[in-house]
Amino acid sequence: MHGRRDYLIRYVLDDSPVNGTIALTSGLVEDARVIHGTSPVATAALGRALTLAGVMGATLKDAGKVTFQIQCTGPLRSLVSQGNSRGEVRGYVSQPLIILPSRESGKLNVEEAVGVGSQLVVVKDLATQESTTGSVEVRHGGIAADLASYFVRSEQIPTACAAGVLVERDGTVLAAGGFLVHSPSGTPPEHIRRIEENISQLDQVSALVSSGLEVDGIAGLLFAGLSYHEVGRQELAYRCPCSRTRAERALMLLGRVELVKLIEGEGHGEISCPFCNEIYLFTREELERLSYLAEQSGERLKKRL
Ligand code: ZN
Repeated sequence: MHGRRDYLIRYVLDDSPVNGTIALTSGLVEDARVIHGTSPVATAALGRALTLAGVMGATLKDAGKVTFQIQCTGPLRSLVSQGNSRGEVRGYVSQPLIILPSRESGKLNVEEAVGVGSQLVVVKDLATQESTTGSVEVRHGGIAADLASYFVRSEQIPTACAAGVLVERDGTVLAAGGFLVHSPSGTPPEHIRRIEENISQLDQVSALVSSGLEVDGIAGLLFAGLSYHEVGRQELAYRCPCSRTRAERALMLLGRVELVKLIEGEGHGEISCPFCNEIYLFTREELERLSYLAEQSGERLKKRL
């Protein structure tokens, strides 16, 4: 166990619609690295995505969930990251072992790992309404800049966004964190200018975290010269809520025909969770029971239609 506590704090500026969220995520990114066995550049890509999913999830109402995914044109192939209103995040990349030369600056080359030209898709599931989906073309590949342009183009909210992960020589996570600042319409131009200026002076967010700054220290730099106050805080953790019951439901969704094929072919079933690598095994007898249940619920559905 890394023993690091991850959390975020939400802030608003006084007399202004500007709101921002800042997160420290070193512990959960290290958990993700251990679960997925990611290489340094994959850790950085996944870690940035998890950090921002955590930040976005925290802004949703009760039981809300946000997923963002990229079908990468780069060697990472695909990246999925999820966060919810309870501060739980999870995610995966389809090629966790990729190795790429670092950029000239010495930074891990997340931009090349992700690549450009594909779509960044954001799905918000809210308990009270239908899910909404938005997308934007990936033009940068560094994840935070593309997410910022998603907010600008898809939600029409001017947004500044950063996320960073520092990885040790041995591959473990030294520091991770990020922030998201929205400047909705009605924001005084001088507030936007001030925040842009502050951000341009700001060190990499992972460097700030590794220097020992806590969230309030980063807020002091981000909102320097402005008056602001805290509106909420939340702990963050890597957590996958998958279960055997959910795996059963996934098998039943295959339908009776597919289940019978599985029974006759392999004679057993296996569902593995891409978020935590848990494997759920099902014997022939269990598959037969699920196939029976799938048929029953199919019949019920037909009757209702
Ligand atoms: Zn899982």
